[in-house]
Amino acid sequence: MNWESNVRKVVPYVPGEQPSGKVIKLNTNENPYPPAPGVEALLKNYDVSVLRKYPQPDCRTLVEALAAKYNVKPSQVFVGVGSDDVLAMAFLTFFNSDKSILFPDITYSFYDVWASLFKIPYKQIPLDDDFKIVTSDYKAENGGVVIANPNAPTGVFMGLDGIREILDANRDVVCIVDEAYVDFGAESALSLLPEYDNLLVIQTFSKSRSMAGLRIGYAIGSETMIKYLNDVKYSFNSYTMTALTLELGAEAVRDDEYFKATCEKIIKTRENLKVQLRELGFDFQDSKTNFIFAKHKSVSAEYIFTELKKRNIYVRYWNKPRISEYLRITVGTDEECDTLVVNLKEIIAQGEK
Ligand SMILES: *Cc1c(COP(=O)(O)O)cnc(C)c1O
Repeated sequence: MNWESNVRKVVPYVPGEQPSGKVIKLNTNENPYPPAPGVEALLKNYDVSVLRKYPQPDCRTLVEALAAKYNVKPSQVFVGVGSDDVLAMAFLTFFNSDKSILFPDITYSFYDVWASLFKIPYKQIPLDDDFKIVTSDYKAENGGVVIANPNAPTGVFMGLDGIREILDANRDVVCIVDEAYVDFGAESALSLLPEYDNLLVIQTFSKSRSMAGLRIGYAIGSETMIKYLNDVKYSFNSYTMTALTLELGAEAVRDDEYFKATCEKIIKTRENLKVQLRELGFDFQDSKTNFIFAKHKSVSAEYIFTELKKRNIYVRYWNKPRISEYLRITVGTDEECDTLVVNLKEIIAQGEK
């Protein structure tokens, strides 16, 4: 089969399981609460004749809502099919150098997949033993920098002084800050945009806005950067967002009150869960996200993961260097977390025998 030698072969990203049936699903950092109420109302009254036409190629309904919310110009906003799509477009657009792009060794495991797919050379820089980013490691010559902040799956947040240090050392390359979890108590680098034309901030509706199923992500940066991103997008697929998605997304952005209330609820549940996990003998770095990346002092992560699954409780586990003793546990509702804790208690008692 000669054609196979011409195939662009990739080792794909492996998403978390989406089991059907009734389970407690704490494995993909989804939001346990529904989207803003206005989203449901809009959906119920949706005029389907709209779907006859192509959607807005410039996605202005959603772009304008985001620009108003974040107090930037619409020409500074790019939207895509989840932040995965936005990140992929950003890699394709901005990382076109022979020099390696840099990102941590423990981070969102899609970054190395995109780099491989687009043939971008990359270097994975080790986090320190506390899973912190060592900013001085990002001062070597490079083709770009990608930082998830707070980081995933560690949950660790680096203050803006650290981000600033990396931006200062890399004025000649694009630095992407992936803020998928920023709304759960961290601080956004958006405030640095007026000072840094090498900064691109990427966020998503999948976690804090309870809309993982609708697929919306966005980037905010300088007008020049967004123009370059759009040039690549229009060279690939002009109609990335459905007409329905644009309407529902804009509606969700407009309801800031609901957004803040659900984020607060999750933060409160997370802080309670931290206390309970520590009592059970788990250790973890402080999390500013909607998950906790925890290691048990005596029982193996793989054992706990498997036993939880038998009880229809799904968390995330990676059998990978440095993190094979950790579980990433999404913060669900208070009830879900209570059930988790009850089951963990039993499993740990079994495991310690
Ligand atoms: C969840 C996540 C994303 C992607 O989310 P989308 O659903 O594609 O918007 C991107 N980066 C990180 C670090 C994530 O955890």
